[in-house]
Parts: sequence; structure tokens; C-alpha cells
Amino acid sequence: MSETASPKHKILIAGGGITGLTTAISLHRQGHEVTVFESVRTPRELGVGINLLPHSVRVLHELGLQQALEQAAIKTRRLSFYSEDGVKIWEEDRGLHAGNPWPQYSLHRGRLQMLLWRAATAKLGSKRLVTGHHLVAFEQDNREVRASFIDKSTGDSSGTYAADVLIAADGLHSAARKIFYPEEGPPVYSGLMLWRGAVETEPFLDGESMFMAGHDEAKAVVYPIGGPEHRRGRSLVNWIAERPVDFDVNNADWNREASPEAFVDYFADWTWDWIDLPKLFTQTDTCYEFPMSDRDPLDRWSHGRVTLLGDAAHAMRPNGSNGASQGILDCEAITNSLGAEVDVVSALESYQEERLEKTAELTLANRKSGPERVLQWVKDRCDGTCLGEHHCVPQSELSQAANAYKELAGFDRAKLVALADTHLQNEGAS
Ligand SMILES: Cc1cc2nc3c(=O)[nH]c(=O)nc-3n(C[C@H](O)[C@H](O)[C@H](O)COP(=O)(O)OP(=O)(O)OC[C@H]3O[C@@H](n4cnc5c(N)ncnc54)[C@H](O)[C@@H]3O)c2cc1C
Repeated sequence: MSETASPKHKILIAGGGITGLTTAISLHRQGHEVTVFESVRTPRELGVGINLLPHSVRVLHELGLQQALEQAAIKTRRLSFYSEDGVKIWEEDRGLHAGNPWPQYSLHRGRLQMLLWRAATAKLGSKRLVTGHHLVAFEQDNREVRASFIDKSTGDSSGTYAADVLIAADGLHSAARKIFYPEEGPPVYSGLMLWRGAVETEPFLDGESMFMAGHDEAKAVVYPIGGPEHRRGRSLVNWIAERPVDFDVNNADWNREASPEAFVDYFADWTWDWIDLPKLFTQTDTCYEFPMSDRDPLDRWSHGRVTLLGDAAHAMRPNGSNGASQGILDCEAITNSLGAEVDVVSALESYQEERLEKTAELTLANRKSGPERVLQWVKDRCDGTCLGEHHCVPQSELSQAANAYKELAGFDRAKLVALADTHLQNEGAS
């Protein structure tokens, strides 16, 4: 992302989540006048864990966030898959441990968001991060876009602001997307309910690795998320439990607190000599229910001076730990486009050209469980004679599945090494 590109634009971003804030930092660095409008009045450290994969970590490091991320996160060492009886299926090194030029980070998503909020405030100035402003409408002509906001807590207008560009990074329930696609309706429910929590415990495995276990009918995803607990020799462990549930997404409360009683019986005997999953679930104070959903890919994000970015553009199922990482790649693409083209309408078209198809393919791949589909392969093929480690699916097939997903998502090692080489060459030339 060049710091010296010539066109300078006035840009509004609706949404101060992970992708809106990253985009703000990146566009500001390129010299644009950027203002972020966030719906909530007081951003707080909410949520549980998130993984940032090396392709998006590259972007964040380039924005000067490496030190803050290293304080907050674990550099994830390994990813393993197990069947429901704790027998290993596959394991692979991740991030730096796999020889990539950038790490994979596992961290608390609220801490990530606040880290980005602080960085954006330091760079843009606090006046450029405006809270209590919920985007509700916009209009545009060939000179400018005018975006209108309300204070969601009162319903009162909080103002209308004019700019060259409006970027809607306003998440799964994007207001801008709804304005462009009023017939779209609620997110597409996968048929799977997720329960999520984070709890401080003794470290498991090497204290820096994640695992997934089970199959399509019951699955667990567990990883430590670093921070002060890790520095004290403990682990803040993020967990997700997943199983099929009939659910009417029209009545969804997307932040509902839940009790482990709703699902723990399905995992009753998932107790292995290195982790006790029922105990992990039930010792968590607060857990949240989330109907796993995505959005159908669109054929257009950019409409004149307004575009969608992050989950607003391409909310995908979380298989593959990739949604936010893809949004961070959007941020790089839109920065490059707006830095290269004087005409903002063409720039937003180029951004869409660069990102839409790639994220659409990934959204559809995640509907087939992404890299986690190998769990069900074992469930389907194992006759119960695999002891110690599964041999029912050849390691070559598992390796191929893992690599194919990385290539599709853009974080295969060959691509990352090539990007690192280009980066070094550019640094040498400047
Ligand atoms: C269970 C689960 C696990 C996941 N794990 C991973 C993972 O490991 N790795 C990964 O990369 N991704 C993961 N994801 C996906 C990731 O959480 C999302 O892709 C990411 O949070 C999207 O960021 P965003 O900034 O686009 O949207 P959001 O995080 O939703 O942020 C949107 C922001 O906009 C604000 N807002 C909303 N409406 C308006 C409005 N009208 N006007 C102004 N502001 C508004 C909101 O308050 C919020 O701050 C996971 C998702 C789930 C559900």
C-alpha cells in the first residue's frame, strides 16, 4: 500500500469493526481524509476468539500494528483435527511455524477491535472516529455522496455528512446492503447452531495450538487466545460447540446469551487425557448462541460512490477462520484502487473487480465446511479400527484438501513467500 499515491479523497466509513477500522488506518496512511461512523455509543471489548491468518497479518504488519498484535495474541503453532473419540486425523504447522513469512495470530476479538480503535484514534485523531452514528440512508450525484445517520438508542437524527466516497463496513446486517438489495431478507441460516465462549484454564497441548474435533452432527473448535493470561502461564481458551438445530432465522437474536445445558449432553464423553470438553463448556461463565449464517454472493458491491466491504460485502460461514482476514484483504485492495485512480467511481469498480469473485468462491466453499470437511470424511469412512491415529483417509488426501483451501483463500506458502519477496524488492527500490 503506497503512502505517496496522488489522488486524495474525502471518505466516510460506516462501521468501526475490524474491517472498517483497518480500512480507515490504511486510507489515512495514504493521505485521504477519513472519518469513521460507528453505530454504538461506547465501543467495548466484546466477543470471544478470532484467528488472523498470515495473508491478513501481512497487511496489519504493514500498517504498523505488529507490536500491538504480538502483545495481544498467540502466534498459533499448530492446527489438529480429531474424530469425536479424540483420535488424531491430521495436523499441520501454522503461520511462522509452517515457514510462512507472517504468523497466524489467535486473539480475543474484542481486544483486536480495541487495539484497532486505539491505533485509528492515534493516527486519525479522535474527532475522526464518531460514535453513536448509525447509517440509515444516503444519496449521491456526480459531485458527492451524502450519508445520514441516527443515534440508534433514541432514533434521533445525528446528522448528514458529505464526501467523495462512502464505504459501508457495517457487518452482517449492513444497512447499506439493505438499501441496495431491499429484497434480500435475513442472512442465510446454515442449519447449524454455534455456541461460543472463552474461559481461563490450564493450557492444553503445547498451550499455543488449536484443534477441531467431531463431524457434521457435533463439532468443537478450541484454541487459546493469548494476552495477559498466556504471559502468566495460563490460557484464555476460546471454544465453539456446533450442532444442527432447526431454527427460524427471521426471529434470530444475534447476541443471545445461552446456557451450556443446551448442548453439553451431545459432547458428554468428549473427555480425552489432554482435555475435558464438557468441563471446559460448563465452567464458562457466559456463552453465546449464534445461528451460523452467511449471505449469498452478490454480483455488485460498488454503486457509484458507495461500496460494501468486509462482512457487509461477503459474510461467510466461519469454517476456515477467514471472514475478517478476507475483509482485511478488501482494505488493502480498496486502498490501492483509491490511491491509483482520480475517478472514485472507477476506483470502486476496480476494488470490486479485484475482490468480489475471490470472496464469492470462498463463501461457497465454506458452505461445504471449508477445510473442516475432512472431519466428516473420517466419520463416513472409518470402520472403527483406526487406533492411535486415523488411517482411513490417506494423509495425501488430507494434505491436498488443506492446501487446496489455502490456495483458494490466498494463504498458501508459495503465495506468501512470493509476496514477501516482492515486498523486499519494493523496499530495496525505494
Ligand atoms: C463463530 C465465528 C467465528 C469466526 N472466526 C473467525 C476467525 O477465526 N477468523 C476470521 O478472520 N474471521 C472469523 N469470523 C468472521 C469475522 O468475525 C467477521 O468476518 C468480521 O468480524 C467482519 O468484520 P466487519 O468489520 O466487516 O464487520 P463487524 O465485525 O460486524 O463490524 C461491523 C461494525 O459496524 C457497526 N455497524 C453496524 N451497523 C452499522 C450502521 N448502520 N452504521 C454504522 N455502524 C454500523 C457495528 O456496530 C460494528 O462495529 C468468525 C465469525 C463467527 C460468527
